[in-house]
Amino acid sequence: MPTSAAIKSSMHHSILPASCFVLHDPKSPRLLGGRCNACREVSFPKAEVCPSCLSEDITPIALSTQGLLYSYTVLHLGKSGEIIPYAVGYVDLPEGVRLFSHLTVTKDLRPDMQVEFYVAKIDDDNSEEKHFAIGFGPVMENPNHA
Ligand SMILES: [Zn+2]
Repeated sequence: MPTSAAIKSSMHHSILPASCFVLHDPKSPRLLGGRCNACREVSFPKAEVCPSCLSEDITPIALSTQGLLYSYTVLHLGKSGEIIPYAVGYVDLPEGVRLFSHLTVTKDLRPDMQVEFYVAKIDDDNSEEKHFAIGFGPVMENPNHA
């Protein structure tokens, strides 16, 4: 999974607290979901109570880093000084979770295309909880990417 320097420099990313991530490998954080042990429903962020069957027996899981772009839109309006256009969309992960996220590109997007998770730690040392910037973008062609 690529950790993109580009996402750090972009103004447009989705920001999530560290509690939304599995951080076993600090170089490649993964989104932290939960799988219900009673009905197998997967939640993100990890639910304390299953939204499907109300079970509290939920196992933390690291969500997939690739999924399919369900739908998207490119925005051409922004505050003064913002970089436009930018894109946001819904991404369906194989676990059955649909995420809303910023996208890393605005061109060559199409529904059902394979997209990949990009993440960068935000250097906000003044804040109590660490945060990460995320976005989804086209899968990199280079198989050697980290
Ligand atoms: Zn359940």
